Amino acid sequence: MHEEDFRVYKSKDLLDPSHKNLITQAMEASASSYSPYSNYQVGAALMLGNGQVITGSNQENASYPAGLCAERVALFHTASVLPDEKIMALATVAKRRADTHFRPVSPCGICRQVIVEYELKQNSPIQVILQSPNGDWIVTDNAKMLLPFCFDKESL
Ligand SMILES: [Zn+2]
Repeated sequence: MHEEDFRVYKSKDLLDPSHKNLITQAMEASASSYSPYSNYQVGAALMLGNGQVITGSNQENASYPAGLCAERVALFHTASVLPDEKIMALATVAKRRADTHFRPVSPCGICRQVIVEYELKQNSPIQVILQSPNGDWIVTDNAKMLLPFCFDKESL
């Protein structure tokens, strides 16, 4: 990991306004989380090249593996309805249902794999916005830096 691959912000207010807006929309999206098993509400928001924001929330299932993370709900929805629109940035937030405050979270490994797939497909970087465990906000230059030595189509 190289320092130039991401930037650290001590406060959300120091972020680019479009990134700050993305976090706000991800927070709002977490309200639609269907998470009766984990009570862990995740929201994700994507900023597209046309300025549109697409959101998603985690969707659980009694058959646990059938559920889907908020990031992939938003990514797959976007790829389905706007397949030619570039994804510029993705923000993820999470909170426990009983809490009023959000807690630091970053995309899981499977979601990182999916973000990288779309980054390669569109041949342009997807910035990932997340909160580090100490509360700082991180903005990466691309998704691939979150998944070094990743498996991709070149592996097939
Ligand atoms: Zn995930």
